[in-house]
Amino acid sequence: MSLSLEQRRYLQALGIEVWLPRDHPLVAGGGAEQGGRAAGKPGRALPARPERTPAPRPGAAPAPSSWEALQAAVAGCRRCGLHQGRTQTVFGVGKVDADWMLIGEAPGAEEDRRGEPFVGRAGKLLDSMLRAVGLSREQVFIANILKCRPPNNRDPKPDEVAACEDYLAQQIRAVQPKLILALGRVAAQNLLKTETPIGKMRGNRYRWGDPAVPVVVTYHPAYLLRAPREKRKSWQDLQLAMKTYKEATQ
Ligand code: URA
Repeated sequence: MSLSLEQRRYLQALGIEVWLPRDHPLVAGGGAEQGGRAAGKPGRALPARPERTPAPRPGAAPAPSSWEALQAAVAGCRRCGLHQGRTQTVFGVGKVDADWMLIGEAPGAEEDRRGEPFVGRAGKLLDSMLRAVGLSREQVFIANILKCRPPNNRDPKPDEVAACEDYLAQQIRAVQPKLILALGRVAAQNLLKTETPIGKMRGNRYRWGDPAVPVVVTYHPAYLLRAPREKRKSWQDLQLAMKTYKEATQ
């Protein structure tokens, strides 16, 4: 497998040596192909896809002009009790027509203050994970199951998830990603409506919505900070994500 310097740095930090034969499926074309670095040609950035307004699809919300309306609806949301304790909502960040969409759990304290998902230590690790597949935060779209911070970072309650899930569904339909990466148990279980433990979900491919978007599950970066030995598995998940993305776009 041909890896860029940054990918190697990330893997080195994880204590992972990657040796793959030249004809390994991940080598051909290599890496993530969305404005990332072309594997085999270190340092050569593929041209980023131009920004576009997502095209409307029958039955799909929102209409192109309603992305701002959706942002405004989230910003003023009072559907559940979490609005009482928030500094602000955290809508999501990134490219509105990204090929990769990353979905986490809910804003933490720092995210609540800054209005952006994954800005703390876990966010830094997430950025490294993205770099390992040749992507940057600007090239993907990052959102959460919940748009408001639960007190003391507790798990989201079912009524909070239910109140928020239409916002996320509208975001996914608008972005039309080619791949969703679910970050952690809470994101994976709520997105895919399952109680399967994350350890059993990893390594499998799931589908969300109609038309179906492929979903790959990995550990939450905050968990990886607490359990660094599991980073090796997260690299396996990222490889599955790259492979899935490649198959979805070829
Ligand atoms: N953890 C999450 O799941 N989402 C964030 O935005 C920050 C931390």
